[in-house]
Amino acid sequence: MEDKNEKCAVFGIYGKGLDVARLSFFGLFALQHRGQESSGISVADGYGIHTYKNMGLVNQVYTEETIHSLQGHLAIGHNRYSTSEGTGLKHAQPVIVKNGLLSLAHNGNLPSVRKLKDFLESKDIGTQDHSDSELMAKALGYYLEHGESLKDAVIKCWPLWTGAFCLTILTKDTLVAVRDVFGIRPLSMAKLNGDGVVFASETCAFHTIGAEFEREIKPGEMVIVNKDGVESVQLETPKQKFDIFEFVYFSRPDSQSLGKSVYEVRQKCGIQLFEECKLEADVIIPVPETAMPVAAGYSRASGIPLEMGLIKNRYIHRTFIQPEQHSRELGVKMKLTPLPEVIKDKRVIIMDDSIVRGTTSRQIVKMIFEAGAKEVHMLISSPPVKFPDFYGIDTPKQKDLISAHKTPEEIKTYLGATSLYFLSLEGLIKSTGLNKDLFCTSCFTGEYPIDLGEKQNDISEPVYAKVAKPEGALL
Ligand code: AMP
Repeated sequence: MEDKNEKCAVFGIYGKGLDVARLSFFGLFALQHRGQESSGISVADGYGIHTYKNMGLVNQVYTEETIHSLQGHLAIGHNRYSTSEGTGLKHAQPVIVKNGLLSLAHNGNLPSVRKLKDFLESKDIGTQDHSDSELMAKALGYYLEHGESLKDAVIKCWPLWTGAFCLTILTKDTLVAVRDVFGIRPLSMAKLNGDGVVFASETCAFHTIGAEFEREIKPGEMVIVNKDGVESVQLETPKQKFDIFEFVYFSRPDSQSLGKSVYEVRQKCGIQLFEECKLEADVIIPVPETAMPVAAGYSRASGIPLEMGLIKNRYIHRTFIQPEQHSRELGVKMKLTPLPEVIKDKRVIIMDDSIVRGTTSRQIVKMIFEAGAKEVHMLISSPPVKFPDFYGIDTPKQKDLISAHKTPEEIKTYLGATSLYFLSLEGLIKSTGLNKDLFCTSCFTGEYPIDLGEKQNDISEPVYAKVAKPEGALL
């Protein structure tokens, strides 16, 4: 059970006089979209660490009683993303080492854990059946037990951690936030009530708890917070490679990364899509919710009216959380209902952020035709996803990625759409307003910034290797 793709949320807070468990709860609630399988909070009070974690959504996991029982002035929290493998309470985080010594929350994934395992085994520490997060925590635990401070333990462990990680770590009196040298996943820092410090995977969590965004944690940086104040240690020169898929799909629109609003980037993707693919249609319908700003951008640029022609049951969360195909298919119907009153006899553009397996998109095209559409054009605000993700997004195995096996023309046929167009990679990067060198684009290009180690064997060149046709790709 090593190397599960964990796409998660991390949180951390330090502040005397703050109700840190309750604030962690609200922070995790704002980060629910990053993980729905389990949630956990560890609180420390200067003497020890108390943890509560369980399966389910944030508001199912905690009660007033559990929040109340977690007393202290520093805390970390975690929401775990569900995957087809490795589900269950034993994977819930934070990871605890030696009850009270250390608690750790991890967003990301270490494709290779060879160095970590070799180190632990050389110290006679068991590694069997351990996730990457547990191995990281155990290595820290080793140094803490040998008298190192948390800061020095992180410095010593740094060379062993090869992969993507945003961590919040807690000892009985110290909170640390640390981000890998590529900064693949987001992690930011805020101020609360004067000298309170908050860390969160996404900036959207700050607004919810009344914290004021300060800055992003730099790639390769560690921030230490304890009674002596806040200290930053740059462990390695940053080599920023932010996962561009955070802008495409994963982040909430009210978050910002690399100084850019996710909402605005998505809206620009819509404007850029119109630059690349000018369709004649009567109505634009976004697949809720990620594609809404994209559709707004395309509508503004094209003058084609935008309608909410697909209504989402907001109490059903992301369909990928259903691990097997049948329930995933049912999930789409349970989640989305088409409105014939805005679809019937129309030439419809359906806007979505990505096609991964093609399952959802196929059902949507069918539903829109059944609701009376004359034409259904699919516009996708990212290039074809051809390569698996090893850094913490649960993008399925390569064999399940439809674009790894089919050309856009074949996908169009599979979906039953009138036409299909994917935003070009250049267009996507242009929409961010940032330099392409700042991004990890591996799911589109297969260029992985991190050495994949033993995972290298899981990738092959897709049958159709070209990213997207910039011109004439309207099929
Ligand atoms: P499909 O047509 O089955 O490939 O599903 C496409 C939908 O999945 C799009 O609406 C995306 O918003 C969504 N999606 C993309 N990546 C992920 C992911 N890693 N986890 C869950 N949903 C995703």
